[in-house]
Amino acid sequence: MKKVFVLGSTGSIGINCLNVINNLKHDFEVTGLTVNSNTELLFAQIREFNPKVVAVKDEDAAKKILNKIPQGCQLLVGEEGLIKAALETEYDIFMGAMVGFAGLAPTIEAVKRGKRIALANKETLVVAGEIVTKLVLENSAEIIPVDSEHSAIYQCLVGENLNEVEKLVLTASGGPFRDKDKSFFETATVDEALNHPNWKMGSKITIDSATMMNKGLEVIEAHWLFGLPQEKIEVVIHPQSIIHSMVQFVDGSIKAQLGLPDMKLPIQYALTFPERVQNDFPRTSMPTIGSLTFYEPDLNKFECLKLAFDALITGGTAPCILNAANEVAVSKFLQKEIKFSDIPLLINRALNKVESVFSPDLGTIFECDRVTREYVSSLN
Ligand code: NAD
Ligand code: MG
Repeated sequence: MKKVFVLGSTGSIGINCLNVINNLKHDFEVTGLTVNSNTELLFAQIREFNPKVVAVKDEDAAKKILNKIPQGCQLLVGEEGLIKAALETEYDIFMGAMVGFAGLAPTIEAVKRGKRIALANKETLVVAGEIVTKLVLENSAEIIPVDSEHSAIYQCLVGENLNEVEKLVLTASGGPFRDKDKSFFETATVDEALNHPNWKMGSKITIDSATMMNKGLEVIEAHWLFGLPQEKIEVVIHPQSIIHSMVQFVDGSIKAQLGLPDMKLPIQYALTFPERVQNDFPRTSMPTIGSLTFYEPDLNKFECLKLAFDALITGGTAPCILNAANEVAVSKFLQKEIKFSDIPLLINRALNKVESVFSPDLGTIFECDRVTREYVSSLN
């Protein structure tokens, strides 16, 4: 039996992960679950999966369930609770399904324990890619990407030599605004931005898809996962979201991974790798799909994508500033405090204001995240 710890079990990836584990229940069991505040769903998950440890970040939410936790299950509370859970629970696979910078600290604990990290939380690699990948090597841990593009590339690279890769081609749906003019961004509403054409995901990543910051974060994620420079990572818009990404090799051959837009497949792959396991997920056929189309993204329209490319080139803490500013800006947009078109403006202001540091240590990264959040929160 493989033991799985799910960081962020009540989110879109967390719920999908538990569905996948339900399908694989003869080989996988859940030993730890963590949530922010949705204790109702956590309770249903405790009843179904019987974990040994659960952690609730929100202290008020945790208080309400203090007396209801079944025997044999330990409840941990607060940010320290999440870290302690990642540090002490028994598990083989750590599913990083939490959203945002907050996922970094618990993920580091799992890496230090030499575990398999099934990584959905791309922000971890965006802000601290150099440190995390070094720790992975030092502790014989491994990262199997869950992000569909990176899972696709990982699958294309099986049996291949990284030195023979000419470039990676990350596909992007283009989000709900791919056919809109830039002027539309001035008036785009929260509901319009949350209406993704192909994927059903948490609200933060859905807004990131509308601004295409999501693809920018994924370029940085790919850089750290596969050790390739920015000029070898290309982004192409592919509205059907059937090709999840591609690898072009030095002989000109291109390998791609295809499938329906459903996160259950990359989640299952990260759990069962190097094996593939039969499942009943929906299938499609090429005649049903009909046609696959591609075109270049407009970096003038999708400014966030350009800002992310630039942050990767600058290096140091620039991606950390980019990420923190983006998290605050997206949250402000979701609360209707700023316009959709303000998101890249705020991020740009943070990149110009907060001092960038080269080769940062972890302490510097936490401080940079804090300072950037404080600065962008004060803007309007
Ligand atoms: P979500 O918002 O649906 O879920 C987030 C989970 O994290 C929830 O369980 C929530 O309780 C928990 N959480 C959030 N903030 C927290 C905090 N401060 N402390 C403790 N717990 C907290 O998000 P999601 O869409 O499932 O995305 C999760 C991660 O996976 C993100 O990094 C996202 O970029 C990545 N990802 C998601 C998808 C997708 O299809 N949803 C695809 C690729 C990558
Ligand atoms: Mg993705």
